Amino acid sequence: MTVVWTSFFFIYGLVFGSFYNVVGLRVPKKESIVSPPSHCTVCDRRLTAVDLIPVFSYVFLRGKCRGCGTKISVIYPLMELITGGVFALSFYYLGFSIELAVALLFISMLVIITVSDIAYMLIPNKILLPFGIAIALLRIISPLDPWWDSFLGATVGFLVLLLIAVVSKGGMGGGDIKLFFVIGLVLGTKLTLFTLFLAALIGSIVGIIHLRRTRQGRKTPIPFGPSIAAAAVISYFYGNLLVGWYLSLLT
Ligand SMILES: [Zn+2]
Repeated sequence: MTVVWTSFFFIYGLVFGSFYNVVGLRVPKKESIVSPPSHCTVCDRRLTAVDLIPVFSYVFLRGKCRGCGTKISVIYPLMELITGGVFALSFYYLGFSIELAVALLFISMLVIITVSDIAYMLIPNKILLPFGIAIALLRIISPLDPWWDSFLGATVGFLVLLLIAVVSKGGMGGGDIKLFFVIGLVLGTKLTLFTLFLAALIGSIVGIIHLRRTRQGRKTPIPFGPSIAAAAVISYFYGNLLVGWYLSLLT
């Protein structure tokens, strides 16, 4: 039965991931997330039902708009696949529980802010606030051990990021700081600090790859949100395992 449900959650994830791409692209532009229906941003061609099937439509269309041939970024099917995969993983580990709701909300928020941050270098408050409130309420019903670790984690995450922002004189955006508050609510203090460490590591790797690709080594700003999101998901599922492993390397 678990296999069946896990597959269902994978498909839910694909469909929601497709919706989150739209939300992540439209909310920062203050557009409605329901109307107009999805369309090509270049030629305005409306997407048909077939074009809306997650991942497969990208493959059918060979990554191009059917109307004008504009390339569709591979980020969109990739975000759909990632959402599907992590939704499935959540159900596999958590089953039907309140914690599953925390996980699904957390992942949904991270997917949306990743899309926004890649597209506009922006993590919208309109996303952080509703997800943050819902997660805070669920953390009261499904608390960490000890229960106050959520709120300590949120405070520590917020303050450490604020300190980095002040010291680096704007190297860290306001969105990143607020995002770490929500991460703290979900993960608690230890795993929030581990997320920061892991995000810095992932961010450096992304930075090096990006530098190579731009050839002349021009300094173009890289959004940090996607690295934070990846680190937060890894910490959520494997943080304790990785921290234990890391500490055993040190001793
Ligand atoms: Zn088009």
